[in-house]
Amino acid sequence: MPGETIKIIDKSGTFLAWGSFSPESQIRTRIWSWNPEEHISRDFLHARIKRSLHYRNQIGLDSQMKRLVYAESDGLPGLIVDQYADTLVVQFLSAGSEYWKNEIVEILVELTNAKTIYERSDAQVRKLEGLPQQTGTIFGSDPDPLLKIREQNLDFWVDIQQGHKSGFYLDQRDNRDLVGRMCRGKAVLDCFCYTGGFSVHALNNGADLTTLVDESERALNLAEKNITLNNLETEKIELLRGNVFQVLRKFRDQGRKFDAIILDPPKFAPTASFADKAARGYKDINLLALKLLNPGGMLATFSCSGGISRDLYLRILSGAARDAEINARIQVNMGQSADHPVNLSFPEGDYLKGFVLRVA
Ligand code: SAH
Repeated sequence: MPGETIKIIDKSGTFLAWGSFSPESQIRTRIWSWNPEEHISRDFLHARIKRSLHYRNQIGLDSQMKRLVYAESDGLPGLIVDQYADTLVVQFLSAGSEYWKNEIVEILVELTNAKTIYERSDAQVRKLEGLPQQTGTIFGSDPDPLLKIREQNLDFWVDIQQGHKSGFYLDQRDNRDLVGRMCRGKAVLDCFCYTGGFSVHALNNGADLTTLVDESERALNLAEKNITLNNLETEKIELLRGNVFQVLRKFRDQGRKFDAIILDPPKFAPTASFADKAARGYKDINLLALKLLNPGGMLATFSCSGGISRDLYLRILSGAARDAEINARIQVNMGQSADHPVNLSFPEGDYLKGFVLRVA
């Protein structure tokens, strides 16, 4: 049966690991444990989830929203648990995590005092595991359409039911904070702004003006709401619905300039097989953005594509700067925030790379 625990042995019959069986997936099994003595059970899951929660406490995050369980990186393949105050949003992305769903929900209730647990198993990878898309409340009362969640000294409206991922880009927490602090007195262009995370931080730090660009009307509406929620001046924002690739070209033709540009696109390359096409997309927007900067300006540029390594991303950026005939230096190296740890035995978990580039 899909998700059942299997013993993995080598040719000679020697024990290798305990894993969950996924007959439909190219990844036939995901490892629960390398220890032959381990018994994969409710107690085992309880211990792993408890360990994940303990790890988050060790970080001491000042935020009501954080990732509590990050799949393989926490020894719980396919399971993602994000906390938004007293609501948990859970994704069961593998046959193994799906198989243990009821036990996992019980354990989360026991260990977190969550009032609501909402399932967002609507990610594409479910299909590869032969699992149907599934969303809805799986414990407690239905969540409000928008939750007001505090992160450090700022509030955000989060749509856990229809928003991207589990509602918010928790992985960018530290980067929003850092980039925001560099925007005082600047004219900022926030590309792929989603619900305005970077712009809220920039304005809160005294940015002069921010132009927010996204193709999603819904995202832009929520971005505006997030700006007013924090009592920031809406006169300082310009909301543009459009395709970033085209908007950047239009700004180039108009001769518009900015002091700070943020490029935080969706993943262009989910796997390495998309790398070539993705590389062209990344080079295009980065080249255009570099040319829109005033002298001394900064570009905060990100890639969350698993199929593009940090090294390759840097080479793409070098190519963009060379072709734009712009001298740029790396001022800051960025990655995913600490609630998205990377297990040394699962380097694929290290997907988010970012750089603050400063032009001459
Ligand atoms: N910076 C955001 C997260 C960005 S997610 C934060 O910190 O919260 C990527 C966003 O890009 C989504 O909102 C999606 O609607 C938007 N998007 C994807 N492709 C786009 C395109 N070609 N042009 C404009 N927006 C796009």
